[in-house]
Amino acid sequence: MKVYISVDIEGVAGITHWDEADKTHRDYQEFREQMTREAVAAIEGAETAGATEIWVKDAHSTGRNLITSMLPANVRLIRSWAGHPLCMVQELTEDFDALMMVGYHAAAGSDANSLAHTLSLQPQTITLNGKPASEFLIHALAGAMLGVPTVFVSGDEGLMEEVRATNSHIGTCAVKRGVGQSTISMTPAAACEAIRQGAAAALRNDFKRALLPVAGEYVLEIAYGDPVTAYRMGWYPGAEHAGPRRIRFRTADYFDVLRMLNFVT
Ligand SMILES: [Zn+2]
Repeated sequence: MKVYISVDIEGVAGITHWDEADKTHRDYQEFREQMTREAVAAIEGAETAGATEIWVKDAHSTGRNLITSMLPANVRLIRSWAGHPLCMVQELTEDFDALMMVGYHAAAGSDANSLAHTLSLQPQTITLNGKPASEFLIHALAGAMLGVPTVFVSGDEGLMEEVRATNSHIGTCAVKRGVGQSTISMTPAAACEAIRQGAAAALRNDFKRALLPVAGEYVLEIAYGDPVTAYRMGWYPGAEHAGPRRIRFRTADYFDVLRMLNFVT
């Protein structure tokens, strides 16, 4: 069984402030370590359930956060960014059995996580076929395009509600809840244990039911904070400048959505 694990930081236990996600800030070390611990917990859970090959993508900011020396010997690690449209699931292919997301977070515009955003801090909101598009949804659909189900997601409670509403067969683990600038969180150790168990349980289930359906058409809308950015992004081939701060893009091919997001966020 071949498993892909994409790891972000804004949804790990305890993380609350942007300083804690910023490599240049001294508050970052603690949460870089927690991001790594949660990734290791998911890896261990996957192995317990029979995963024989595990690829891990470091998917926050520079893509160089996970403490490599803490990872077990038998994983393959993807660091930094190639610039490929698969973005946070770079190198995912049809021959993977399952995709997992660890440390993921609520979408841009959500009040469920003080660090909520989608892909960059530039979009105020991104919607796909009328629904707010989180990094979870964008990359779970990338998996679906390749026939790979997203079987387990950990992060903030707001995102877990979105995941369960999207497909109730996806395993979830909420390690914290955001209230304004604050967070109410599990301890690091408790979060790791919950992720380890959740990842193992997800792979023991009939996880093919977690595969999201592929739509016939995708309508992507992005709202920016300023009209100047929206005007410039509206020149992306096929995009429509849909309002002073908004662009719209329609396609039948989900890869076109990923390609566009690579250039306009
Ligand atoms: Zn993120």
